[in-house]
Amino acid sequence: MNYASRNCDIYASLFTHRSPLPQPLRTLENFTHMGKLKVDIKRQVCLTFDDGPDPDYTPEILAVLADYGVKATFFVVGEAAERFPQLVEKIVAAGHTIGNHTYSHRHPWLISSARAKSEVARTTDIVENITGSAPRWFRPPFGRLRTAMRRQAHAEHMATVLWSRSIIDWGALGTKTGIARRLEQVKAGDIVLMHDGRPEQNRPGVTLQCLPGFLRSLAGKSLVACNLDEVV
Ligand SMILES: [Zn+2]
Repeated sequence: MNYASRNCDIYASLFTHRSPLPQPLRTLENFTHMGKLKVDIKRQVCLTFDDGPDPDYTPEILAVLADYGVKATFFVVGEAAERFPQLVEKIVAAGHTIGNHTYSHRHPWLISSARAKSEVARTTDIVENITGSAPRWFRPPFGRLRTAMRRQAHAEHMATVLWSRSIIDWGALGTKTGIARRLEQVKAGDIVLMHDGRPEQNRPGVTLQCLPGFLRSLAGKSLVACNLDEVV
């Protein structure tokens, strides 16, 4: 081995150790980098519900999704999953996907990097203990990226998933009219952010009211909703 190629090997090992993280997935188009897709993204949307499970709202949202035969992805908070394991089981039994949304939903920028990692790892353990499978998808709280968290998720073979469309079901904009209007704008390839939990922060009750009309409208737009496991 000559000096130059040995040098290359050293650099290669450095880069393998600190390899660049994959870009977060924001649209279904972004998934094409992960391999051959199982669905036609020109017709598909992915609905995601964050911050649950919640004993009041998750069962009602599951019932509406079942009425319309729609599969979604639930980014659960580990703390809530630990408290309501039967709801996590119910989500999985209905054919939906579980994602990891950290243990306590702390802002990723306001915690130590050790805590950032354990927030991810602990939630994976909880989900795996309940469902028998580790989640494949990770979403940081508030969509705020933190390298320590993304590395932990990557090491656990999870892809980081954000969204292309938020229905903003919280705060002053979280009205029935506003949420319904934003849902009307959903188009093929979108990953839609909604909430089924943390009602003290979000408005899952309003989301629930808007959901049937939105799900009815999908067929008219020739759109099909699927969960993230169905994409790739
Ligand atoms: Zn959240």
